[in-house]
Amino acid sequence: MAERIGFIGLGIMGRGMAANLLKAGFPLTVWNRTTTRMQELVAEGAHAGASPADVAERSDIVVICVSDTPDVQEVILGERGVIHGARPGSLVIDCSTISPKATREIADKLAERGVFMLDAPVSGGSEGAAKGTLSIMVGGEAEQFARALPVFQAMGKTITHVGGHGAGQTVKLVNQVLVVGNCIAMCEALMFAQAGGVDLRKTYDAISQGAAGSWMFTHRAPQIIARDWRPGFTIDLQQKDLRLVLEAADELGAPVLITSLVFQLYRTLQARGLGNEGNHALIKALEHLAGFQIEPAS
Ligand code: NAP
Repeated sequence: MAERIGFIGLGIMGRGMAANLLKAGFPLTVWNRTTTRMQELVAEGAHAGASPADVAERSDIVVICVSDTPDVQEVILGERGVIHGARPGSLVIDCSTISPKATREIADKLAERGVFMLDAPVSGGSEGAAKGTLSIMVGGEAEQFARALPVFQAMGKTITHVGGHGAGQTVKLVNQVLVVGNCIAMCEALMFAQAGGVDLRKTYDAISQGAAGSWMFTHRAPQIIARDWRPGFTIDLQQKDLRLVLEAADELGAPVLITSLVFQLYRTLQARGLGNEGNHALIKALEHLAGFQIEPAS
């Protein structure tokens, strides 16, 4: 019989992920802090839980996708948290992006009650969540990874067991170091092209398929050239992930020069009220320093 699944956190990501679990035929209980956000899934056949503890009581596996480290701590360890309803032998899967160190601490607290945990942060954005094509990086015991595989397969495409508790979160932060490194390189290159007086669209056509190409350049350079700041991933969430990288790098003694620089540049954009724009709006920080702007050719 399929394991009973609970899902906590029906935000931009969680909504699509939970809907895909329902589509795959898992019995599903959901909970969201803002309760109106549960209606859509309940209409599709999910049961509405009364609290995270209640979801855990009704489930064998509880999937969580909330914002930040303190939020995961609250829904698992808080007054009405998962830990108060979970039976020994049940499994908690955290798909939020949070601190690797806090993840290990939470896993230890759950283990004291005989409850298993996997950290399983995702990448692929709201589109990947809706389509069930997420990349999922998983940390924790191999037996629990094998147990959870059908759940992951309902939500994602590239599913990799990368190590013990916290390793999934560490790999997700590696992903974020690369994302912002690619982003600042793209912004600097476009500013240089603008200063050089070349047509930006022709520049894009000439180089995007070559050795300098990247996912970031292919998808976000056209948006920058069109001055379209709609987010695939917001500056505020990007900044949260960079804060996690800087904290972890500090603990580990690893130098992260570019990530530190980009963190400060995003801070200037947040101070200007641009936290809801896409992470490619990083170029606005360079424009401010340079005193000129990217101008689409007419
Ligand atoms: P979101 O749309 O802002 O949703 C956040 C969810 O967390 C909401 O359901 C919110 O409940 C809930 N929540 C926050 N704090 C809570 C608390 N203290 N107690 C209970 N519930 C709480 O965010 P999202 O984009 O889905 O992101 C969720 C996670 O996935 C984040 O860790 C993010 O970094 C990661 N992620 C996001 C993307 C992306 O492209 N968006 C991609 C990869 C990974 P309410 O509805 O009550 O506010």
